[in-house]
Amino acid sequence: MSAREVTTTSVGIVGGGPAGLMLSHLLARRGIDSVVVDHRSRDEIEQTVRAGILEADSVRLLSETGVSERVLSEGDRHGGTYLAFGGELHHIDFQELAGASVWLYPQTEVFVDLADARAAAGADVRFGVGDTSVHDVTGERPSIRFTDADGSAHEIRCRYLVGADGSHSLCRHAIPPSEIRQYRKEYPFAWFGILCEAPKSAPELIYNHSDRGFALISQRTETTQRMYFQCDPDEDVDAWSDDRIWSELQARVGANGHELTEGPITGKSVLRFRSNVVEPMRYGNMVLAGDAAHTVPPTGAKGLNLALADVRVLAETLERALTDRDDDALDEYSRRALDRVWRSQHFSYWMTSMLHRPLAADEFDLRRQVAELHSVVRSTAGKTYLAEAYTGWPSG
Ligand SMILES: Cc1cc2nc3c(=O)[nH]c(=O)nc-3n(C[C@H](O)[C@H](O)[C@H](O)COP(=O)(O)OP(=O)(O)OC[C@H]3O[C@@H](n4cnc5c(N)ncnc54)[C@H](O)[C@@H]3O)c2cc1C
Repeated sequence: MSAREVTTTSVGIVGGGPAGLMLSHLLARRGIDSVVVDHRSRDEIEQTVRAGILEADSVRLLSETGVSERVLSEGDRHGGTYLAFGGELHHIDFQELAGASVWLYPQTEVFVDLADARAAAGADVRFGVGDTSVHDVTGERPSIRFTDADGSAHEIRCRYLVGADGSHSLCRHAIPPSEIRQYRKEYPFAWFGILCEAPKSAPELIYNHSDRGFALISQRTETTQRMYFQCDPDEDVDAWSDDRIWSELQARVGANGHELTEGPITGKSVLRFRSNVVEPMRYGNMVLAGDAAHTVPPTGAKGLNLALADVRVLAETLERALTDRDDDALDEYSRRALDRVWRSQHFSYWMTSMLHRPLAADEFDLRRQVAELHSVVRSTAGKTYLAEAYTGWPSG
């Protein structure tokens, strides 16, 4: 068997998604070296359509730390959003209520900007690796082992190891169950998502409640749109022709007086919902960040934003841990990150339960939901909570 090639670094990062790449970038700005490994190719990650809404602080993080100018020039600033219910469209003005906006800028573009910035800085980022495993995470020299595309064996030895490897996290699974607590919530529905070639049907997102179930009208570019409708988690994508999809979407938004501009559908997928939180987000000299530590239902657009918020705190606390040998700093990371995680869990759960048709819903359930939505839009306090949570609480 050939010898393993060993690389030594301060921080070894499993996962080159938004959390892993942004962490590597923020550490480099603090003079801290890192190595990132990801088992997917750059191309594959670039082709995966996911989140689209960035909070104000996520945009600041990307633009002010030199990752992306495009987010400001090509991203679409949304000063509000629409809630559609009870036959009408209601505008929530984020600027007026919270003095902030969100940006429509696809996660695929965030990834391209981060990967380009890391490449331009000559960072050690290895895509397309195989057989990843983590070792000695409670010891002084944790390590990541993997094989490269040629099948050669590699090892990254580091002082701290970060699991930024998404919701199926290998790093999280390396922690003995007795050392962490996992809080989970399953939801009895999912989103049927489509990409279509059509002009925008609305200038900002529409969160649409209807007796037939929830729909989200979202955008991507001037000519490509992203829309979703609530479906069964086991829905068969192939059972949905383009005509059937448009007729379902039109029926849901039509209930609130809106009409969609249709076009050819270029992508269809079912996105299941799950809430998950791991506490603490640290085990020995390994920490978890982003989806590896927590997932939220997509209503409320918190997943990507939470991943970026985590690593903003993590870069700061890792610097303290490394330069001041302050081991408690990683506990502080977990405490501070979890505070935001739980507030985001609540917001996502609240938006989800208020807008989706409950399983076996009766007339009472649906009328109660409409009353709840009226309570939000008729109250400045209600609208302000939604605006503050959606645009993102200031990172402290
Ligand atoms: C289909 C879909 C749609 C979504 N839509 C939205 C949305 O509309 N709004 C929203 O806010 N959020 C959405 N999300 C969630 C959002 O995309 C995530 O919260 C965000 O990607 C989290 O970033 P991350 O870096 O923590 O994890 P990820 O982006 O998942 O990155 C983790 C990386 O780790 C790599 N990896 C995993 N295992 C290994 C391993 N064993 N070895 C090496 N590398 C590994 C993966 O290849 C991946 O690149 C969606 C998610 C999915 C799956």
